[in-house]
Parts: sequence; C-alpha cells; structure tokens
Amino acid sequence: MSSIEKIDAVIVGGGLAGLAAAYRLSASGRQVILLERGDAPGSKNVSGGRIYVDPIRRYVPEIVKEAPFERHVVKEMLVVLTDTGSVLLEHGNERWRQEPYMSHTVLRARFDSWFADRVAEKGCFVIPKRRVDDLLWEDGRVAGVRAGGEEIPAHVVIAADGALSFMAEKAGLRARRTPRDYAVAIKEVYKLDPKIIEDRFGLSPNEGAACLFMGAVTRGMFGGGFLYTNKDSLSVGLVVGIDALMKEGGAIESHRLMEAFVARPEVERWVRGGELKEYSAHVISEAGIQGVHKLCTGGMLVAGDAAGLALNLGLTVRGMEFAIASGVMAAEVADAAIAEADTSGQFLSLYEEKLKESFVLRDMETFRRSREVLENPRLFTVYPKFLCELFESLFTVGSEPKAPLYRTAMEKARKYVLKWDGFKDFLSFRRM
Ligand SMILES: Cc1cc2nc3c(=O)[nH]c(=O)nc-3n(C[C@H](O)[C@H](O)[C@H](O)COP(=O)(O)OP(=O)(O)OC[C@H]3O[C@@H](n4cnc5c(N)ncnc54)[C@H](O)[C@@H]3O)c2cc1C
Repeated sequence: MSSIEKIDAVIVGGGLAGLAAAYRLSASGRQVILLERGDAPGSKNVSGGRIYVDPIRRYVPEIVKEAPFERHVVKEMLVVLTDTGSVLLEHGNERWRQEPYMSHTVLRARFDSWFADRVAEKGCFVIPKRRVDDLLWEDGRVAGVRAGGEEIPAHVVIAADGALSFMAEKAGLRARRTPRDYAVAIKEVYKLDPKIIEDRFGLSPNEGAACLFMGAVTRGMFGGGFLYTNKDSLSVGLVVGIDALMKEGGAIESHRLMEAFVARPEVERWVRGGELKEYSAHVISEAGIQGVHKLCTGGMLVAGDAAGLALNLGLTVRGMEFAIASGVMAAEVADAAIAEADTSGQFLSLYEEKLKESFVLRDMETFRRSREVLENPRLFTVYPKFLCELFESLFTVGSEPKAPLYRTAMEKARKYVLKWDGFKDFLSFRRM
C-alpha cells in the first residue's frame, strides 16, 4: 500500500450514479476524486432516454430544476407490430403538460457533461480518460484504487462503473450473471428540425413524446424498440435479450434488426429527412431484483447499474433515476462513515437499509417477477397478431357482406387468446 495520505472518497465512473455520489459528497466538503474512462462524463453513456424526475427531486433538487433536459414528455405511444401491420395506442395527458413535469427526454452526452461541471464546482476532481484497473486492499477492506499505474488510497470507494461493473466483481459483490440477465441495446440519434419534430408528433415547443414498439421488430424475441423526441433530434433504438439472440444461434444479428426496425414505415415516417449523427451500443441489465447482490463491503459501496439497479416493465424503462438516487444514498452513508471513522462493511450496510426503504428497492421488489412475464414469447408474437388482425377485420369493408363486429372480435379472440395458453398468460400477468 502506498504511503500517500488517504483522500475521503474515490468514485469509479462518471455516469449518473457516480456524478450524483460525487455531487453529494463534495457538497458536504469531502475530498473526492471521480475517475471516468471516457473522454468526458457522458461520452460513453447510452440511454434511451427518458428520465422520470419525480422520484429524484428530493435527492438532487437543484439538478432536477436546472438540468439541460430536452423536452418534457406529454405523450406516450405504444406501437404493436406484426410483419405487415401495426396498432398505435396513444395517451396524452393534461397533467403532464403542467409543472412540475413527470419526465423529460435527455441526451446523456449533454446532461452528464453539464452535471460533471456542477460536480466540479462543488470542489470534486473530475478526471476523464482515466480507467480504474484494480482495487487496493488493506486488512481485508477496500482501501482505494489503482488507475493507470497510480495508486489512489481512499477511505471509501464508490463503484459506479455501469452494468458490467468490474469493480463490484473484484470486490466479490456481484451476483453470478448469465446471458439471460442482459439485453443488447443499439441506439441511433437523428438530427431533425425542432419544428418538424413538433409537427410530426403533434407537440408544442418544449413538449416531447415517448414511443415504444413491440412485436415483429424483435422477430418474436424478448425486447422492443424505442423512440424519444429531443429538442432537435430523435433517439431511436432497439433492445434484444442476449439469451434470446443466442438461442437463434447467430442467425439474427442485432444491427440488421436495427436496420429493419428503422426501415419500418411506422418508424421511417418519423425519422424521414433526419441526419444520422450518432450510433452506439451498450448492454442493459434485465435481471431485475434478482441481479441485485451485496451492495457494500468494508471500504466500498456500489451504485447504479453496477449494483444491478434497473427495471424494465415493457411500458417503462427505468435506470437513470435509480442511478441518481442510489448515488446520493451511497454518498450519504459514505459521508457518515468517514465522520465516524468507521468504514466497516457493517457500518456501510446502512446503505442497503436506505435503499430498501426508498423507491429504488421497493419498486424493484414490487416488480420482482416482471422478467418472467416479459420473457413470454407470445407477448411478441401471438398478442401483436391478435391486435393487428382484430383491427384489420374491424376496419375492413370488402365485397362480401360484413359479419357483426362482436362475432368478428370473438373469432379473433378464440383464434389467439381464449385458449389454455391465453388463460395461463392471464394468470401470469398478476405477477406484474
Ligand atoms: C439503450 C438504452 C436505453 C436506456 N433507456 C433508458 C431510459 O429511457 N430511461 C432510463 O431511466 N434508463 C434507461 N437506460 C438505463 C440507463 O441508461 C442506466 O440505468 C443508467 O445510465 C445507469 O447509470 P450509471 O451511472 O449506473 O451507469 P453508466 O451510465 O453506464 O455509467 C458508468 C460509467 O462508468 C464508466 N466506467 C466503467 N468502467 C470504468 C472504469 N474501470 N474506470 C473508470 N470509469 C469506468 C463508464 O465509462 C461510464 O461513464 C437505458 C440503457 C440503455 C443501454
């Protein structure tokens, strides 16, 4: 161990969890270094992305108030697709048009770098282009990090290094993961005139839309597509379960799925004329609470995606507000531990208690079995077919006399839904 004096805290990763932790600790006057392997905070982050701000307002009020978010979301859309048709459900809501807004679209490169400036203003050393390679240990406890051949001893390390967290793994804080626990996500950003975005989506200036796609876009595999309106761009992407892709034995490549997705008329009409500015890919944790393991050990806490704190319910994708809230809670406990000169695993386990009492683990616990429900392939094949065929029949007027609408609907329901499998699915939905 180096003889250099210990600083209060080292934070690994400059995503939202790391930045939130650094912000809270620096605001308390702690000496903090944040190390980010990317060119700048935000440069390596991939998010859909829409952030729900109601849950985090109390943790970082000034950040939520002043952040350079893109648009507040006033319109939710769900597109269910088969190979040849689609059904679009749209929900608008006056409440979402009023402050305080529930959720905003966000571009991470912009938001994270702005957040990093606020963190630096609080006195934290934010060091980009510095990858942490290893942990330092002292008497069986984490005692700092090794980065680029340099040792940085610290009273507390907060690992916020994202979904594949090597820091958590090195500290033995990671649940055993399988391909079933992850999805691969591809995202593109298309630049488009704000007025065109507003006209196409029926929005007023600053208002945004969030759109999810399910069904044929993933060829029946677990996953779906997304589209979010930013100020002057659209974020468009596709998420597919890695396990489901592997079962196809390499027959389906995710980038080809993405090409086909953007070429679908239901997507193309929105993206049309846009200039592709960004392409990125990332993994996303789909394990839910089963992927949350131990969250701390002597000298170290884990926050955000690194701790497995992410929740996909099909209709909502949440990770960013979990990252921010867990980062702040990790920092609060680290601050108290430093003040008490007790960074033992037992003291730091207060963090787990805090998370359990907060929306983070309560929501994850409530939706403990959501993955089992969402993995059902019928959700991506049978139900989209049912909806599309039902609407097609109801709206079709052909040369033959038309059957009564109720009979038409029942025929389709009997074909797809009113079966033993449908009954089992119905029972399984109680898990959500
Ligand atoms: C395509 C996609 C769409 C998503 N959509 C949404 C959405 O709409 N809403 C939502 O709430 N969530 C969404 N998520 C999830 C959300 O992006 C994450 O939950 C969130 O970014 C987690 O933040 P984090 O700070 O924990 O991790 P990250 O944002 O991944 O940050 C980790 C940081 O650590 C750095 N790092 C890693 N290893 C090291 C190292 N050894 N040394 C130094 N630095 C290191 C990385 O470069 C990175 O900057 C989406 C994710 C994906 C992939």
